[in-house]
Amino acid sequence: MANARAQARKTKQLEFIWQAIKDDKSHPTADQIYDRVRKKLPRISLGTVYRNLQKLVADEKLQVLMLGRAQHFDPLVQRHQHFICESCDRVFDVLIENQREIMPTKLPHDGFRVTSHQLAFYGSCKQCLS
Ligand SMILES: [Zn+2]
Ligand SMILES: [Zn+2]
Repeated sequence: MANARAQARKTKQLEFIWQAIKDDKSHPTADQIYDRVRKKLPRISLGTVYRNLQKLVADEKLQVLMLGRAQHFDPLVQRHQHFICESCDRVFDVLIENQREIMPTKLPHDGFRVTSHQLAFYGSCKQCLS
């Protein structure tokens, strides 16, 4: 059974992690969030940061964006797409109004059901172009 102090510490860790990402539009990885949180909570482990991020995802406060094999965390939970700069690897949110559902004409096998899709735009950001 967790005692009250351990529980209070857990709540504090979750709150710090949430504060570190809630206004962040840069789609950081767990490692990047860990570096930030560690400045305020030096004894926190990457595993704890990771577990708390998964909790925030489960609570629908964060979305996960897979880029290659890395998970990026996104506090913008409304449905949106991404623009990825191929020069600097920065990720930008793209909001498309009245977006229609894209349905593939053919799925790999019969009996599959599509629930959502993710679209990514690749190119160069303004800063890399200038
Ligand atoms: Zn760029
Ligand atoms: Zn996003």
